[in-house]
Amino acid sequence: MTNQKQHILIIGGGFAGVKTALELAKHPEHFAVTLVSDRPDFRYYPTLYHTATGGLRSQSSIALREILPEHVQLVEDFAEKIDREKRVVVTRSKHNLQYDKLILALGTVTNYFGIQGIQEFSFGVKSVEEVERFKQHLHQQLADDGKPDLNYVVIGAGPTGIELAGALPGYLRSIMENHGIKHKAIHIDLVEAAPRLLPRAPKSTSRAVRRQLSKLGIRLLLGQAVQGETADALTINGQPLKSHTVVWTAGMANNPLFTANNFAMNDRHKVTVDEHLLAEPNIYVLGDNAATPFSGMAQTALHDGKFVAENLVRLSEGKKEKTYSAKQPVSIIPAGPQWAAVDWGRFHFYGRLGWLLRELADLEGFRDLQPWWRAAEQWTKEMGHEESCPICAEFVA
Ligand SMILES: Cc1cc2nc3c(=O)[nH]c(=O)nc-3n(C[C@H](O)[C@H](O)[C@H](O)COP(=O)(O)OP(=O)(O)OC[C@H]3O[C@@H](n4cnc5c(N)ncnc54)[C@H](O)[C@@H]3O)c2cc1C
Repeated sequence: MTNQKQHILIIGGGFAGVKTALELAKHPEHFAVTLVSDRPDFRYYPTLYHTATGGLRSQSSIALREILPEHVQLVEDFAEKIDREKRVVVTRSKHNLQYDKLILALGTVTNYFGIQGIQEFSFGVKSVEEVERFKQHLHQQLADDGKPDLNYVVIGAGPTGIELAGALPGYLRSIMENHGIKHKAIHIDLVEAAPRLLPRAPKSTSRAVRRQLSKLGIRLLLGQAVQGETADALTINGQPLKSHTVVWTAGMANNPLFTANNFAMNDRHKVTVDEHLLAEPNIYVLGDNAATPFSGMAQTALHDGKFVAENLVRLSEGKKEKTYSAKQPVSIIPAGPQWAAVDWGRFHFYGRLGWLLRELADLEGFRDLQPWWRAAEQWTKEMGHEESCPICAEFVA
């Protein structure tokens, strides 16, 4: 047992970083915790599709200072370089941040696979800023043209693409109604390069979601590769598809900090970690960044944060560290009003029950990061709606 406090430096204010900070903050006698984030808020990604289709901004974004206790030092900066010998992280604003243990939980960045025009012309749904831009476009276009776009195209039939495509028909109809636009057909395409949607889910789930999306009138373009985008159209398998509204949800890449700092990675470009989630001596890598079996899910990131914090506490108390055991997350994917597909171990079910479970999972997600009363407040925001379009705002109020 040591008397001196260890300095724990956490880079990344997302699921894994915040969870680690919250757990370690319960032991101020052992740790001085600093969390570095390049943004002032925590992004609750699972509800971003809802924010993008009329939900509240504050539902998907919570100020980090509100979540973290006062004695966790919060630094808003961008980590760039790690000096392993000096145990220092150098930030973009040239601060040298010292650590005894370093925890890296930086999440992923969008990957456009070098497809021409996609980055320039498509919309994204990975931050509140991106979804605001998308929403403004939908409203502006309907207000200016008095009719919907020829095609609304969502690229990527993973969970994010499905959630968004499923919520779009209802949202577009409500905007049209508010703007007095009547009886215009809406065309929504969901494009996927793989031969089936949700390529990583069981086939029965892919089929159930496919039926549900078809019922909502969404056209599925499976096994179709996107080759490029211009201001007016997308090229898919050599054919043009006219659209001014393309959303890219198809690609994520690991955070570039790891390549820039020469970390060892597996063939999926995730950082190789040992049974304690250590990538190197004194450097832990968690969440989406780590090569663990269920990396890429918020539940895994929370699990990792809790695990590493517990081991750091054990070490500070002179106890033996535990060995990492991956926990299979429950996958709940909403697709349209009050419908979700659930894969829970051997159990798979679809429909309203799935949707109710998803609501509870979001409450649990907020509860993981905040006291219950604040989590409940955050959760009830799922019922709220918000529009910056002055016409639609009248209907929301
Ligand atoms: C649209 C969307 C919907 C999703 N829905 C679900 C879902 O329903 N269920 C589920 O389980 N998972 C979902 N996920 C996945 C889940 O959100 C991630 O697995 C989870 O966020 C990973 O947590 P993390 O802590 O590893 O990274 P993140 O939560 O991404 O946090 C990383 C943080 O590090 C910051 N950062 C990055 N680089 C730097 C730097 N150099 N310096 C300082 N800070 C930096 C980032 O700004 C960010 O705040 C979704 C993801 C997306 C994009």
